Amino acid sequence: MPTELPERHCPICEKSVGDRAENRHFPFCSSRCKQEDLGHWLGGSYAMPGRPASPDEIAQELVRDHGSD
Ligand SMILES: [Zn+2]
Repeated sequence: MPTELPERHCPICEKSVGDRAENRHFPFCSSRCKQEDLGHWLGGSYAMPGRPASPDEIAQELVRDHGSD
């Protein structure tokens, strides 16, 4: 068996994802996919208990997530 590093794929669009050290959006390929995943969580697509998040709350999450920009 060859010893290859497992290739990472974006859980949203399944594009290959760069190394964690070089990709600030890891394990996603881009901020777009990262935000899309976050939207799934906040929107309840992953069967998260609780009420749906309002658009304002989602926006706040995105701002917090990118606060270091
Ligand atoms: Zn992606």
